[in-house]
Amino acid sequence: MNDKYYLVLAGGVGAAKFIKGLANVIDPALLKIVINTGDDIELFGLKMCPDIDIITYTLANIVDKEKGWGFQDETFNCLSILKNYYGFEWFNAGDKDLATHIYRTDLFKKGFNKSEITSIICEKFGIKSQLIPMCNEDVQTFITTDSKKMHFEEYFIKYHCEPKVIDVQFQGIKKARPVNNILDYIKKAKKILICPSNPIVSIGTILGVKGIRESLKNVKQKVIAISPIIEGETVQGPADKLMKCFGIEVSCVGVAKHYREIIGHFIIDKKDCKLKSEIEKLDIHTYCFDTMMVTLEKKKELAQFAIDIIT
Ligand code: GDP
Repeated sequence: MNDKYYLVLAGGVGAAKFIKGLANVIDPALLKIVINTGDDIELFGLKMCPDIDIITYTLANIVDKEKGWGFQDETFNCLSILKNYYGFEWFNAGDKDLATHIYRTDLFKKGFNKSEITSIICEKFGIKSQLIPMCNEDVQTFITTDSKKMHFEEYFIKYHCEPKVIDVQFQGIKKARPVNNILDYIKKAKKILICPSNPIVSIGTILGVKGIRESLKNVKQKVIAISPIIEGETVQGPADKLMKCFGIEVSCVGVAKHYREIIGHFIIDKKDCKLKSEIEKLDIHTYCFDTMMVTLEKKKELAQFAIDIIT
């Protein structure tokens, strides 16, 4: 017997657009959102969880809508002094955002774990959905490029994803265990929605947490994914480069093949509809829809389309 809630697997900016749509077409209290923590980083002595914060600020309606991350109406006074103290220039944390990192770090010091802290912060913002970090253990993504090995955030922000990627390592992933009841939630969810997030460093990291991939395989007929790749390109971010590095074809077909064991349904962009039959040969029900979530209306339409799929 399935429960009423929807389980969502999410990264950051791509996921947040879709989740914004979902939260506008169904009761947000019906959403349990498992979020990638592989981008987490400690800087200036502060614990930062970029993807959790993006989803939190989005659902709290305080996100910078243009950038898709950080607070709206943000200032960067504290960062200008931190740059002077620490001597590096690349991390963009605004004053309000830093307050979240200070509070989170303080709660860690008081003995709370990541999932408890996430719930506390969500409660402060009045968020009705349940936000669940994929694990409480520390997982950090490192990118080996042709020049050096660096944290994913450095590759992403400082180097704008420009250096050639040689390898990706998920440090700590072997020890990562699914938070709370994630495996039970997978079993009982009405439907499971995989956001149009980076298949390697957002969704791939979640799937790397012990038991999650196996549990999804058992219920794949109720798992619906949305392609983050449209006409062979990413909408934003380095998914294309990372997919290439893993030998995955950069197309919605490549994403479908990558997810084939764990999904029963796949939404591709209408511009890729000519590839529908190729994906259906993989035994995946495939749907064409406008997946470019440029306005709230588009986000809502895609969300409604996804939850209406009969699984
Ligand atoms: P990040 O952790 O902030 O990079 O965010 P995600 O992993 O959640 O999302 C990154 C992915 O979202 C990229 O591969 C983009 O191609 C995809 N994406 C962003 N906006 C859209 C959109 O409007 N439509 C679709 N289909 N994909 C999108």
